[in-house]
Amino acid sequence: MLISEHTSTIEACRFCFMCRHVCTVGVIGGRESDIPRGKGLILFKVLKGHADYSPDLVDALYRCCLCGLCETWCKADCRPPDAILAARADIVAQGKEPVAVRRIKDHLLQTGNPFGLPAEERFQALGGPDLFRGQAEVVYYVGCDTAYRQPQIATAMLKILGAANADFTLLPNERSTGKPLSLLGYRDEARTMAEQLAAEIRGVRPKLLVTTCPSAFDAFKTDYPAMGIDLAGVEVLHAAQYVDRLIEQGAVVPRKQPAAIATFLDGTYLGRTHAVYDEPRRILGAFAGLTLGEMVWARELAYSCGEPGGVFHLLHPELSGRMAARVLEEAAKTGADVLITACPTTLELLQKGNHTKLKLRDLVEVVAAAL
Ligand code: SF4
Ligand code: SF4
Repeated sequence: MLISEHTSTIEACRFCFMCRHVCTVGVIGGRESDIPRGKGLILFKVLKGHADYSPDLVDALYRCCLCGLCETWCKADCRPPDAILAARADIVAQGKEPVAVRRIKDHLLQTGNPFGLPAEERFQALGGPDLFRGQAEVVYYVGCDTAYRQPQIATAMLKILGAANADFTLLPNERSTGKPLSLLGYRDEARTMAEQLAAEIRGVRPKLLVTTCPSAFDAFKTDYPAMGIDLAGVEVLHAAQYVDRLIEQGAVVPRKQPAAIATFLDGTYLGRTHAVYDEPRRILGAFAGLTLGEMVWARELAYSCGEPGGVFHLLHPELSGRMAARVLEEAAKTGADVLITACPTTLELLQKGNHTKLKLRDLVEVVAAAL
């Protein structure tokens, strides 16, 4: 059992309540099994052979959005998300994953995206064949959520790449990074998908791989090296880092200066995992008319919409909606006019439940609008 590699976390968490008030799903869902202590108790029983992965326990183990707030808060260096991911891989190995989980896996394998939408429609909203070149210095990896649900983010990124005269291409056969598969417990399938995408990227011989999707960014930065998948030395940047660099080099000069108060929502992979906190704020600081209002819970303690891998909201749309509402309420308290994210999944979740007067934008949309 893979959970045996996480015994120290499981044994510590089952006796501890210290992160129950920060657990994103726990504070919304309200079940004892939602918080890391509950997960620890479940996994301890499974580990000791006192319980099997019954449907109830399986359901509890997929009620975690992997936001990472618990491990950021933890003083004992415990990592509940890693233990939960190991449990999901054990559940899949026993063929006990929920039907809804299996459906997402089938969509990913059949169409390359978690929605099951036709692969040939991936870049339909983005225009013509001049997006693709056989070789280029920069590969822009668009990602499933951006391509199918938030194409205006890709349009904005294309405008920035054009303004910077970048030698770039999209991948004509782009598909998911495989990360959603690994977050659902399908490790072998995730690796196969990752290897295929890595071969596509290497084929272009780029120097730089840039993406507007934090989950893809983490896949390239963390998952692929952990799987031993080689990207042939290509540098990987999230768009926030890339645009920050372009502005610093003078390759992109935001000209219009909107007068507004903005607040920026940090996320799991860009923020808590890779500590990309300053770049988005520097970019927003380049707009003289824009004032930044910080949320009380910001940077590594930022509230989450449950965006990792873009799968939690597909499994738990109602819970996910309440998580987004909580973020919106927190953002509205700053008095901001606009809430800015750097994640297509987060933007979609916020848009669905926006009951505030906040305008919602991706960071690259704000920059592109000022070019
Ligand atoms: S992650 Fe840390 S703070 Fe949370 S329950 Fe486990 S040991 Fe306690
Ligand atoms: S990763 Fe987030 S949702 Fe999951 S147990 Fe930790 S705080 Fe709760």
